[in-house]
Amino acid sequence: MALIVQKFGGTSVGNTDRIKNVARRVAEYRARGDKLVVVVSAMSGVTDGLIKLAKDITPLPSEREMDMLLATGEQQTIALTAIALHARDIPAVSMTGAQAGIVTDGVHTKAKIRNITPKQVHGFLNEGNVVIVAGFQGQTADGEITTLGRGGSDLTAIALAAALKADLCQIYTDVDGVYTADPRIVPDARKLDEIAYDEMLELAGAGAKVMQLRSVEFAKKFGVVFEVRSSLNDNPGTIVKEETRSMEDVVIRGVSLDKNQAKLTVVGIPDQPGRAARIFRSLGDATINVDMIVQSASHGAANASRATDISFTVDKPDLLKARKVLDALKPDLSFRDILTEDDIGKVSIVGVGMRSHTGIAGRMFEILGTQGINIDMISTSEIKISVVVQLAQGEQAVRALHQAFIS
Ligand code: ADP
Ligand code: ASP
Ligand code: MG
Repeated sequence: MALIVQKFGGTSVGNTDRIKNVARRVAEYRARGDKLVVVVSAMSGVTDGLIKLAKDITPLPSEREMDMLLATGEQQTIALTAIALHARDIPAVSMTGAQAGIVTDGVHTKAKIRNITPKQVHGFLNEGNVVIVAGFQGQTADGEITTLGRGGSDLTAIALAAALKADLCQIYTDVDGVYTADPRIVPDARKLDEIAYDEMLELAGAGAKVMQLRSVEFAKKFGVVFEVRSSLNDNPGTIVKEETRSMEDVVIRGVSLDKNQAKLTVVGIPDQPGRAARIFRSLGDATINVDMIVQSASHGAANASRATDISFTVDKPDLLKARKVLDALKPDLSFRDILTEDDIGKVSIVGVGMRSHTGIAGRMFEILGTQGINIDMISTSEIKISVVVQLAQGEQAVRALHQAFIS
């Protein structure tokens, strides 16, 4: 008898037929005698719809109230999933994140899990129930409802698997597993049988939304091996686990596109020590994640009036907030202007094999050049190269790179 955590994403619970399909799948595992904890997302489109309602009222709604609002999406699905199991005469209990013992910090809309005390989950499991837990949400020690960032149900599942010491963690989604590129962009992308945590981390950070970035960080930290697979068929999925030696044989494991970034440029900042620090500290204090940073060569005479430009990217939903932070700094830091751009795409190639190969960046830039795609910003890690391009050329770039490095 195994303890299994299964997570079903938005499309997999997108309508009542799909929810009945989840119940059927859960019933099959239960018939084998397994103990099951099922984490569900909001039905597809529900979270986006709730965000739209709030933004119809005001562009920057209170983050506490957004959490209160968004947490309702998952709460609908847990009850419907429990009802679907009851319809099969399977005892099941739904639980909110708070009831499941998920305690977070107080950073509304992107809270971090502090600890999990799944006493009640164990209690219900031991009574013979399937336990259905609302993904994406938790509660602070003071009882405030929080959410874990977009795609956060993945994190709920992985963190619960770690806390419950589950034998198996399965992430059910609407594709057969992790592919060499988003199969919606690259039709001949291949499903991977396995992928290293570090590669999955870089792909997730580079926009492959099949797994939430923070959930993969958590899995790596606590050594949670998990499988990404389809809720719509029985094909084997992709195992995400610690790197093995043979993984280095492949130079590029995947290509991805992040359409969810926006760029800000602070123009004409006096080129003096401490100014960049002020900017990025203020953004950090406002809990805005900064991804790429590029500082241009300073211009002007070599005196106190020398100035420089700094460009950086943030998640698109944080663009307005970041702009507000910069506006507030302007009088003090006396820069000239703030420019914003939200029609950019970040294109990345990822693979642990890159560590032992040279010349990959040159080849990547050449391929993009041949396609007439201009590179706006560049950043690299040991196993990843990312470039910012015009959003309209993002998919073309991904297809060309996939064709050259993987197909
Ligand atoms: P869920 O609702 O199940 O959490 P998501 O929509 O968050 O599902 O993630 C699944 C989607 O991720 C797929 O439909 C696919 O379009 C997209 N995706 C992006 N990159 C990849 C990739 N490398 N492999 C598989 N899917 C990917
Ligand atoms: N419902 C949330 C979202 O759409 C969380 C999730 O689906 O994982 O981001
Ligand atoms: Mg998701």
